[in-house]
Amino acid sequence: MSRPLTDQEKRKQISIRGIVGVENVAELKKGFNRHLHFTLVKDRNVATPRDYYFALAHTVRDHLVGRWIRTQQYYYEKDPKRVYYLSLEFYMGRTLQNTMINLGLQNACDEAIYQLGLDIEELEDIEEDAGLGNGGLGRLAACFLDSMATLGLAAYGYGIRYEYGIFNQKIRDGWQVEEADDWLRHGNPWEKARPEYMLPVHFYGRVEHTKSGLKWVDTQVVLALPYDTPVPGYMNNTVNTMRLWSARAPNDFNLRDFNVGDYIQAVLDRNLAENISRVLYPNDNFFEGKELRLKQEYFVVAATLQDVIRRFKASKFGSTESIRTIFESFPDQVNHAFHFLINVLVAWDITKRTFAYTNHTVLPEALERWPVDLVEKLLPRHLQIIYEINQRHLDKVAALFPNDIDRLRRMSLIEEGGVKRINMAHLCIIGSHAVNGVAKIHSDIVKTQVFKDFAELEPEKFQNKTNGITPRRWLLLCNPGLAELIAEKIGEDYVKDLSQLIKLHKFVNDDIFIREVSKVKQENKVKFAQYLEKEYKVKINPSSMFDVHVKRIHEYKRQLMNCLHIITMYNRIKRNPMKPFVPRTVIIGGKAAPGYHMAKMIIRLITAVGHVVNNDPVVGNKLKVIFLENYRVSLAEKVIPATDLSEQISTAGTEASGTGNMKFMLNGALTIGTMDGANVEMAEEAGEENLFIFGMRIQDVEELDKKGYNAQEYYDKLPELKQAIDQIKSGFFSPKQPDLFNEVTNMLFHHDRFKVFADYEAYVKCQDKVSQLYMNAKEWTKMVIRNIAASGKFSSDRTIKEYARDIWNVEPSDIKIPPPNEPRDVADDKNPNCTTQQVKL
Ligand SMILES: *Cc1c(COP(=O)(O)O)cnc(C)c1O
Repeated sequence: MSRPLTDQEKRKQISIRGIVGVENVAELKKGFNRHLHFTLVKDRNVATPRDYYFALAHTVRDHLVGRWIRTQQYYYEKDPKRVYYLSLEFYMGRTLQNTMINLGLQNACDEAIYQLGLDIEELEDIEEDAGLGNGGLGRLAACFLDSMATLGLAAYGYGIRYEYGIFNQKIRDGWQVEEADDWLRHGNPWEKARPEYMLPVHFYGRVEHTKSGLKWVDTQVVLALPYDTPVPGYMNNTVNTMRLWSARAPNDFNLRDFNVGDYIQAVLDRNLAENISRVLYPNDNFFEGKELRLKQEYFVVAATLQDVIRRFKASKFGSTESIRTIFESFPDQVNHAFHFLINVLVAWDITKRTFAYTNHTVLPEALERWPVDLVEKLLPRHLQIIYEINQRHLDKVAALFPNDIDRLRRMSLIEEGGVKRINMAHLCIIGSHAVNGVAKIHSDIVKTQVFKDFAELEPEKFQNKTNGITPRRWLLLCNPGLAELIAEKIGEDYVKDLSQLIKLHKFVNDDIFIREVSKVKQENKVKFAQYLEKEYKVKINPSSMFDVHVKRIHEYKRQLMNCLHIITMYNRIKRNPMKPFVPRTVIIGGKAAPGYHMAKMIIRLITAVGHVVNNDPVVGNKLKVIFLENYRVSLAEKVIPATDLSEQISTAGTEASGTGNMKFMLNGALTIGTMDGANVEMAEEAGEENLFIFGMRIQDVEELDKKGYNAQEYYDKLPELKQAIDQIKSGFFSPKQPDLFNEVTNMLFHHDRFKVFADYEAYVKCQDKVSQLYMNAKEWTKMVIRNIAASGKFSSDRTIKEYARDIWNVEPSDIKIPPPNEPRDVADDKNPNCTTQQVKL
């Protein structure tokens, strides 16, 4: 037998990551050397690892360009229906490896970089994450872009190019500390600024009555400068566009009118306008009614709509000149009032037929309710139009439900009583032809509880579209060992059709396959342990169970319940040190919103418990607690493939879908979870007996609410819970500051909206079962295989196909956009569109 393969060699073998041709490799090496010279202006004596990363990035980028241009040309010529995905967040993570994989260049690049004497993984690790998102919602947008490109949809992502993405999290003395995410510092090789397509966005001002109707005047203008990022599909020559807007002050900003005096101050004040795209708001599932955030929302919408309409006109009329629309050419004899009415009716009808609204949460504190006063100040004309829309909407409701005043109050776009607010979800529902939730259970809550009145008015609008994840990043990229093992068994087509994973069922009892699956997991665990040791100098035991809870820190996600389980395990070991114990490494990671005090206290508690547990000689190697610093997309790619047990333990009815749960399932972790979000469907797909489901169902939560949740009861009844809470309260984990966690325990007793104590007992019992099974490695791995085989539903390709069919009315296409040519000389081009007449794509 030969020696074991190195990581480098293992990666080379995987054909689903592209074919290594000699010419291919030679061309890549040549490109790399040319970019090091011409783009980075370095030679190998002075080049840094970052220079090598950029040289590789530019080399790979060169392979995108022809395909990108061709794809956009093709859309212009064929003019398919476009899909526009508007989101304030695109949590893209890194781009280099994903691009290599989707273009089929991974293996060739591995070989080229290897031949150049460099380590490609080290280079990949230099890339900054594009952290333009907080958590699941932003990452979903990124997975959707990948799937839309892979399915050949003429799709665009539209958002904001934040100069600072989600903050970097540092842990100092056990506390979270935030650092600015200056992700553009070294330049971004994946974006292309398009200043020629800049658009104006107006704010403030007032509404003036003129002869031809109402006019919005005296506004402040901010320019929206687009930056385009390519979005390659998987092995289909399609490259779509993500267009992110950056705010720029007009050059005459503050230099007209009365401000002319102070030129220097006027130039300095340009920042005021440009602050719109400065920084991502770091809240996950929480509405903070800040003016700057409202500006961001209007900025992306106003710029995007202008861009979309401009492209629409260009495609229909071959010109971007202002086309006289039907309404504009409407006979002039029609009086103005009537003209306006027709315009409003037509516009509202087009709006409804164009837009679809996806709801991502039902937590009341997360739903947007903008104060009317703020909207009036920033967008006075829009407020008037919202009032007009509300009037017509309420007239319709009143006609259908006469004498139901309370219904009118509940369904109004405007919430009265105290601060007047606009309920944005209500506006979205009535302005869309489809409304959907993101997992079955969530869509049911949307329809039967949170927006019940609206579903009674227009039941046909309401749908479900269960979330998914892209198998390219979340399997091929992050877990090549498993991806290849699966390809050996069922072929390579599963990458584009994840439902084929069901074929793995045949191998559930195949001893060799079981061993191989478990070996891949073990290798991933060792690699992750090595990473932790190198980066954080912490040693973990790779033969212990890796019990992982990574996601944003939030009370509803119940990291506190996990923490109580850790304390319970600790106390059991201390009570009976000789009793056999299934060793665990509990890894918890996630960012707390900087203004979310309780979330920060939860982090502090975890680090405090970790400090005691990890330094207790009686515990030794049986239990370790790691708080994983700065959880983000690129760290998810490292930890998820190394996980044995995935923690998905939200209070039933609070997690809309979750997508982290799906990533773990696909990567061979078992789930301990509640019947919440997509966990429900994961259990349906795999069989409930193949997940560790515990705790209250939605009905139980409702019953408990009716009866009244009394945390004290559980504390009195459950000695292990009592012990854990007493320790936290008495300062056992914070001896220098015994009252440090008083707010936490006080919350748990008196205002715990998420009922941690009510699920504690079921959770601990379920964890005991997890440990039991983990002792039987073979049975554990068989359950893992059943989970992987059942995870096909959770591809975002499936999700996007459903959106395309049921909501967007577009066809996924298999049409092969031809592979790119070499760039043509502009003078050789016979197509007048390319030279004389500009077509803005
Ligand atoms: C997938 C993902 C999430 C979402 O995780 P949930 O467990 O569904 O909340 C959050 N952050 C990152 C970095 C992710 O990759």
